[in-house]
Amino acid sequence: MGEPMGTQASTGSIVQTKTSNVGPVILFGPPGAGKGTQSKRLVELLAIPQISTGDILRENVAQGTEWGKQAKAAMESGNLVSDDIVCAMVAERLTKPDTRRGFILDGFPRTVAQAEWLDKLLCGKLFESTHGHVACEVPPVVVSLRVDYNQLLQRLTGRRSCPTCGTIYNVYSKPPKVADVCDLEGSKLVMRQDDREEVIAGRLKAYEQQTLPLETYYSAQGRLLKVNGDQPEKRITEEMLSLIEHGNHL
Ligand code: AMP
Repeated sequence: MGEPMGTQASTGSIVQTKTSNVGPVILFGPPGAGKGTQSKRLVELLAIPQISTGDILRENVAQGTEWGKQAKAAMESGNLVSDDIVCAMVAERLTKPDTRRGFILDGFPRTVAQAEWLDKLLCGKLFESTHGHVACEVPPVVVSLRVDYNQLLQRLTGRRSCPTCGTIYNVYSKPPKVADVCDLEGSKLVMRQDDREEVIAGRLKAYEQQTLPLETYYSAQGRLLKVNGDQPEKRITEEMLSLIEHGNHL
């Protein structure tokens, strides 16, 4: 199994772990659970890429690609995009060299069919460490972020993001210094189309019906790790890092 995680530097009480192979990290939870925020923190600490199928889909819609045209209606109504399109996008993304040490899947898989497809794809896949580029198999670490329903609603309706750097704010719990302006870029913050109240109910329903069964799927594999997403951001990151480290040495 992978070598122990390296210790390079410290950010607050969080130790950075940029030197070892990490393998696949699967992060799932309802819309608004904080998957995007936590993924970005882990990207910094582990130096592996975030692969957000929601972000890739939004880019495709914005650029008017064939995938984007097919996905647009489902996304606008809060439904899931077809497994075929999403799996093809992930397959393409995973061919990029930045995934050699590992990657964080944010919002994928979202159906049992996607999880089965991913299991097949990962079977036998080797991951490199930065020391000597030793390649080895690393089992996926599956983390389910759980958040109280009312918290979710507040997070979704209050969510704003910077179109330039992607920083995520919340008008209730994490406001920018100047209303509607990114602290880092000065860009005007935007609200996602599907964070409107009329779409949120559909997204939460899609989560319950199609994504929640993944808990049973990964539990049966003995892989499901639950994290309380109602805690402070930094605490959640610490718990996730610890799970990733232990998950790597199962
Ligand atoms: P997200 O940014 O992860 O909340 O995703 C936004 C929207 O993209 C979702 O409401 C779905 O319509 C679509 N989407 C993202 N990931 C997936 C996935 N793995 N499977 C199907 N649809 C997805």
